[in-house]
Amino acid sequence: MSVVYARRALRRATASSKVNVMFAFVETAAAAPRDSGAYALLVALGAALPVEAGPRRATLSPGLYVYCGSANGPGGLAARLARHMRRDKPRRWHVDQLTNAGAPLGAWVFPGGCECAINVTLKALPVPVEGFGSSDCRRCRAHLRLWPAGATPPEDWARPAALLNRFE
Ligand SMILES: [Zn+2]
Repeated sequence: MSVVYARRALRRATASSKVNVMFAFVETAAAAPRDSGAYALLVALGAALPVEAGPRRATLSPGLYVYCGSANGPGGLAARLARHMRRDKPRRWHVDQLTNAGAPLGAWVFPGGCECAINVTLKALPVPVEGFGSSDCRRCRAHLRLWPAGATPPEDWARPAALLNRFE
């Protein structure tokens, strides 16, 4: 189920109850659902970090980054986020460079969602490295975006303390 579809379904489901449903932000992997789906992982980087994305090399400046990914394996979103939050992982994906060096602060979770749809929702945020995290994606320039100071999440995403404490 795409994020757009999920949103419509949520709006329909909540239109009568007038409840303002927001996509949740989890600060720990244990708090994430075990469903398959997509996530937007927020990572704080404290020092400049040289990274590789295929043939490209770049240096990420200190700051906040958001990475859009999918979790369709066993254990779903909870298992994938647990891996992202573990230090000293063997490098398998581009984003492992960032999560090993930086501090994953948590993630917005979209059970049944699609990483590319989430990425489109964040299209106003700058792409720091072309192709980063999107080698197997034909739609997106990258699955990593810089989260500039003062940027706000889309209106139906939770506003986590991890962001508010830093910038507000
Ligand atoms: Zn994509």
